[in-house]
Parts: sequence; C-alpha cells; structure tokens
Amino acid sequence: MRTFIRLTAIVRPYFWWMALAALIGFATTGSGIGLLMTSAYIIAKAALQPPMAALQLGIVGVRFFGLARGVLRYAERLVSHNTTFKILAKLRLWFYDAIEPLAPARLMHFKSGDLLQRVVDDIQSLENIYTRVLAPPITALLVALLMWFLAGAYSLQAALLILGFHLLAGLGVPLLTMQLSRGLSVGIMNRKTDQQLLALDLFQGVGELQVYGRLAGHLQAMRTTEAAKLQLQRKNALVEGLQESLTGLLMNGAVITILWALIPKVSTGGINGISLAVITLAVMASFEPFIPLPAAVKHLEADRHAGNRLFEILDAKPETTSPTVPVNFPANLAIQAENLSFTYPGNRSKALDSITFSVPAGQHIAIVGPSGAGKSTITSLFMRFWNSSKGQISIGGISISRFDSEELRRNIALVSQRTYLFAETIRENLLLAKPDATDEELRNALSLCGLSGFSSKLDEWIGQHGMKLSGGERQRLAIARVVLQNAPIIILDEATANLDGITEKEVTETLAAISRGKTMITITHRLKAMDQYDNIIVLDKGRIFEQGAHERLMSREGLYRRMWELQHSTEMG
Ligand code: ATP
Repeated sequence: MRTFIRLTAIVRPYFWWMALAALIGFATTGSGIGLLMTSAYIIAKAALQPPMAALQLGIVGVRFFGLARGVLRYAERLVSHNTTFKILAKLRLWFYDAIEPLAPARLMHFKSGDLLQRVVDDIQSLENIYTRVLAPPITALLVALLMWFLAGAYSLQAALLILGFHLLAGLGVPLLTMQLSRGLSVGIMNRKTDQQLLALDLFQGVGELQVYGRLAGHLQAMRTTEAAKLQLQRKNALVEGLQESLTGLLMNGAVITILWALIPKVSTGGINGISLAVITLAVMASFEPFIPLPAAVKHLEADRHAGNRLFEILDAKPETTSPTVPVNFPANLAIQAENLSFTYPGNRSKALDSITFSVPAGQHIAIVGPSGAGKSTITSLFMRFWNSSKGQISIGGISISRFDSEELRRNIALVSQRTYLFAETIRENLLLAKPDATDEELRNALSLCGLSGFSSKLDEWIGQHGMKLSGGERQRLAIARVVLQNAPIIILDEATANLDGITEKEVTETLAAISRGKTMITITHRLKAMDQYDNIIVLDKGRIFEQGAHERLMSREGLYRRMWELQHSTEMG
C-alpha cells in the first residue's frame, strides 16, 4: 500500500488532467447508455404504431447520443493519452534525476540488464497507472451510480437487483481474478528480466561462450526461460478469458433477473412496457466499464512490483553528495592526501590504510605498486565516486568534499583503466570531453595521440564499446579526450598499458607535452621512464611502502628497486 501511495504522489501534479479524463470517460459511457436507452425507447414505442411526432424525442436522443459518444470517445482518448505521456515524461525525468547521484558506487550491485529492465519496462508499466489502474474503478463507480439512480426512478427493486450484480462484477470478479492470478504478472516480469540478462550476456560474451563451448548451454537457458514465461502467459490468458466470461455472464444474469422481476409488474400496470425495454438495455450497457476492472487489479499488482523495484534503487543514499553551498575551485592546484583510509562495502580488509602524500602544483608524480595495492582506489576517491572512510584529499588546501562534484570532475582529466567508448562515431566520443570543439581541434587532438589516420573518419561508427578499434586505438582515443578537455589536473590510470613499445613511447611524449605545467598523477605498475616524475609513491596492500624520486628509491633495497629489477631483467631476458 505504501508503494502505491508513493506512486500516486508522483502523478499527483496531473490530478486535474486525470479528473478531466475520468469525467469525459464517464460521459462517453453515459452516452453509450443513453444511445441504447433512446434506441430501446424508439423500437418499443414504434411497435405500438404511434404517430411519427411521438417518436421525435427519441430520434433526437439517438442522434445526440450517437454523435456525442464518438466525439467524447475521441476527446477521452486525447486527454488520457496526453495525461499518460505527461506522467511518463515525469517518471523518466524523476528516475534519471534520482539515479544520477547514485552512479557508480550504488549501482555497482545491480546487473546492467536488470537496470535496463527497470529503466525501460518498469517505468513503461507505471506509465499506465492512470489508464489501467486509477481510471477504470472511477468510471465504473460513476456509471453504476447513474444506473442505480435511473433504475431507482422506475423501480427500487430493479435498482437493488442491479446493485447486487454490479457488486459481483465490480468486487467479486476482480477479487477472484486476483486470487487466481496471484504472482502471474510478477512472474512474467521476472522472466522478462531473466531474458534480458541472458540476451545481454549473449551479445556481450558471445566470443567467450563460443571459445569455452558454452553457447549451446546458454541458448538452452534462454529457451527454458522463454518456455517458463510462455507457461505463465498461457495461465494469464486463461484467467483473462475466465474474467471476461464471468462479467458477460453477470451482465446477462442481471438482464434476465430484471426481466423476471419487472415483467409481472408490466401486467399489473406497475411499470409500462416501454420503460422495461429502456431499463433492460441500459443495464446491459452499464456493464461495459466493469470489463476492465479485473485487469486493473492485475495491473495494480504489476505496478506495485515495478514501483518496489524502482524505489529499491531510488531509496539508496548516494555515496557522495555535493555541498549545498560549494566552494569555488581554487587557482592553487597543490594536492594533499592526509591519513586517507578506505574499505569497500562488504570487504574486510582496507583498500587504503592511512595514506599521506602531497603533490605540489605543477608536479608530476607516479603511484606504483603490485596489482590490488589500491592504486585505482585513490582515483575513485579523487573523482568522488566514493568517500574516504577516514582522512581527506584536498586541493589548494580545501577538502574536495566542499567542491561541487561536477566542477571537481571538470577540472580533473581522467584516463581510467577501463575507458568507456560509446557506440557512436569518433566525433561524438571526442565531443564528450569538449562539446563545442571544432573539427580542427578534434583532428589536432587525434594527431597528437598518433591517430592522424582517424582525422578523415570522424563520422565513422566505432561499434559497441568501440569494438571496431584495437585496444591501443581505444586507449589513444581516451587520451585524445584528455587533450581536448584541457583540465589543470590529469590522472592517468594505466593509460598506456595496452600500447606497443613504440606507440607507448610516442603517447608518453605527447602526454608529457600536454601535461607541462599541469599537476599530474600517473598510476602504473609498469616502471618505464620513471626518472621523469618528481615523486614516486610505492604502494603495497593499501599502505605507502616508500616514496621519493627514482634515483633515491633505486639507491635503497626496497620494493621499488625489486619491482624495477624484476621488470627490467624480464625485458632484457
Ligand atoms: P590493479 O593494478 O590490478 O588495477 P590496483 O592497485 O589499482 O590494482 P584497486 O583496484 O585499487 O587496486 O583495488 C584495491 C583492492 O580493493 C583490491 O583488493 C580489490 O579487490 C578491491 N576492490 C577494488 N574495487 C572494488 C569494488 N568495487 N568493490 C569491492 N572491492 C574492490
């Protein structure tokens, strides 16, 4: 119930639009009832062969209700679709606004197919909350009230009988349907999520599945999920068929009962024959808005499930937030990490343990160490993807938590280990770093990174995740973004790891050229051209093992010298 109340709170701004749509919906069904009533009146009256003038009122009524029903149906569709699209736009914006601060730390626990399903299907399901869940009971209630009032004007007994049948159709059938279809909508939604997860794994991992001979097994898992979904859909169709038949049965039952109760009154003069025909046909028409009620109960269950899944994400507290009154980014770019500690949620051991180091403005430092030492974690803390558990990082003497996160990220150019390239053209991928860059600037950045060959292919599509490029080309494209972003602080996390020796040397020279006068932190486990760094921080198991310039570290019998000798003896060998 809480989920439903929270969902209705989201659509509350469109209350008047929904009220208008419900009112026109009621008027449309009312016109349908009016049309049948006036038609019945004409047919019954004409059977008594009255003068033509006596039928005039009925004829005008048929014309009026016939035309009104068409026009009102059109207006109702227009207003309800307009309301639905307004709700959809609001839901999507609301979800994206809420999800953005959660990335990446809080979204890490969700599989990407599952997130996709929530963003697309769950929101799609909720877009119909008005047309499928809220509107049908309102229209049915208004029509029922009209019907009881009309029938009551002729006979109280008829009104009470209709009330009974309406209660059965409006409460009995939906409750029975809810009982029979319990779990079906949610089951179908869950099977769809499974299908999306399997399909995404198939597209992205088809190479691995083929290499390890798992393709047939994966396809079988997809078939099994499809069969399970089909079975649930079949059950669902059976319940739907049953609910429609039951509503039809109740409608016919109501008509027969009314005839059975009122025909004797015609013979005794309690009601005239024409009125009996009019009421009977009106009763038939009054069941039309009851047909979607069982489906509304099912949609309610599906919407509650979709709402729960969305709120599950949205109720997560963002790992980092921007301050309400952020401090301007300083001109002084000296960086200081003080007593920095961090443990990933769910991990026992610290990824970083009381780290202290400083980077004077304009200096270049390297952070080196074996795999898992905590090097990339420092990058994540710098970019404020995570907050440190203890200690802080400051720039120009101001803690980074006091800057607006977007401004902080604008001032730091990052090439991470896992560069993400969008399934777009080379141009679009570069413009991400500088949306207003000219072609000349793009070409210049490409050529600085040894990609002059791409200058004539700016509009070429690079495939999903940049699949049409080699690993080295992807990395260089990421570095070209750094050139374009022209930020005062540069962080390179294994930026040249995928390059061959010659290209690596060229790109390293380019990076040295573009980072002149800027503050730069290079994270690497490959100890090459280390004498270019002002300071080298050697990290192991989350702690600083030693730090200093290359010469100084080489003069000691420490981890750095062991790593350097090991790497260089392997290369010589
Ligand atoms: P590499 O050179 O292999 O990239 P690294 O020095 O950059 O290693 P980090 O990626 O910082 O190491 O990881 C430090 C520790 O934190 C590792 O033990 C790793 O398993 C753990 N870790 C990293 N990312 C996460 C995460 N998102 N959730 C949980 N633990 C993590």
